Amino acid sequence: MPHCPKCSYKLILLSSRPKYKCALCSKLYSKKEIEFQEFNKRRRIEDIEVYEKERKEHLVIINEIKKSLKLLFNGFSKTPKDYRKEYYEKNKEKIKQLNREWRLRNREYDLKRKQKTLALQYLENEDFKPSNEEIFRSVPTFALSYLLK
Ligand SMILES: [Zn+2]
Repeated sequence: MPHCPKCSYKLILLSSRPKYKCALCSKLYSKKEIEFQEFNKRRRIEDIEVYEKERKEHLVIINEIKKSLKLLFNGFSKTPKDYRKEYYEKNKEKIKQLNREWRLRNREYDLKRKQKTLALQYLENEDFKPSNEEIFRSVPTFALSYLLK
């Protein structure tokens, strides 16, 4: 939808004449004038897109040149991050395997800890078990509420 060059409001194509009319300021524009303007606008957008694309490609090339220059002047100097990354890439499977084992060990440890907690809780409960059921009833419920974890 074309817009008025004067007030940027929507333009309406008149059915009676090959002219556009602004719905706000009522100014009339020839169809050719507006179409030329629209064409230019589209071309400007396309130009911007082409420019952006070329700029990106240019940046990629510059980065590659920078990398090559760095390599040329510094030899194959690597940062600790590069070494870590390289080590990871080379030993990916080993590291994954170690991680898996570590997780499994951790889970085992976790389970053992939970078992221990449960056993302790059971023993605690045993302590509360009275030899006489009557006594058990006399214990107020709030005194046992901490067991409801
Ligand atoms: Zn207008």
